[in-house]
Amino acid sequence: MTETLLYEGKAKKVFTTDEANVLLHRYKNDATAFNAKKRGSWEGKGRTNATMSAAMFAYLEENGVPTHFVEQVDETSIKTKKLTMLPVEVVVRNVAAGSISRLLGFEEGHRFKAPIVELCYKDDDLDDPLLNWYHFRELGVADEDLEFCEELGLKVNEILAPFFDERGILLVDFKIEAGRDEAGNLMLADEISPDTCRFWDKETNEKLDKDRFRRDMGGVEEAYAEMLRRVTEISGHGLQASGKDPKADA
Ligand code: ADP
Ligand code: UDP
Repeated sequence: MTETLLYEGKAKKVFTTDEANVLLHRYKNDATAFNAKKRGSWEGKGRTNATMSAAMFAYLEENGVPTHFVEQVDETSIKTKKLTMLPVEVVVRNVAAGSISRLLGFEEGHRFKAPIVELCYKDDDLDDPLLNWYHFRELGVADEDLEFCEELGLKVNEILAPFFDERGILLVDFKIEAGRDEAGNLMLADEISPDTCRFWDKETNEKLDKDRFRRDMGGVEEAYAEMLRRVTEISGHGLQASGKDPKADA
């Protein structure tokens, strides 16, 4: 397979492949936080993030959510459809943590009456600001695309919150992205991992995600390994991390 580096991000490298509409995402052990002001790296991070993303995308597809996932290639790499990404980060929150505590004063751990969806503008120079629909219109993002993002966020939450609950995990919040394929179809993209979700043990409230790195809590390698174990080893309702042939849709 001929791979050409298309983009090197903070947490993964994205390559083009022999197939024009297919990308290879290779997950790194590197981590950044606070918009790359803090940097680190730990063993097994790439493996957890690639494998969990693959498993979650496959599970979401089985439950009717269109995703970019094609197949997991090896421990740290997955193939996806090549999309034109929307410049939007969709954050869904069930429990207060992180920036919403700073924004609205909710104490960490406060449970929201209903999930809260936030639409942020994907722009590192601006620190991914939380915008309203008027701002997005001015930036050229269509209302229909924002509607899709909101509905996608809520649907993913509806499916994943019970999935993690069965594995003893509270899904506190998460960030997803979406993009459009050549035919114009919008779908879920990027990753679903302890880098992009907050996971708390249901019994102990122990943090099993990137907050351990952000806050220098220690045990970050063990936390990622534990999340991988809960997703891949604990069987709940029908997890099958199988790939699918991209040409099957063509
Ligand atoms: P960042 O840009 O935040 O540092 P990463 O290191 O995770 O992020 O790099 C991955 C990049 O690839 C992100 O910009 C993400 O929007 C983009 N991306 C994710 N999935 C796809 C896809 N299916 N097609 C095209 N780009 C994608
Ligand atoms: N998140 C992410 N990438 C970002 C910003 C946030 O994956 O660029 C995730 C983060 O891991 C958390 C959720 O989105 O699961 C909400 O993050 P928050 O806005 O609280 O950000 P913080 O300021 O705490 O990083």
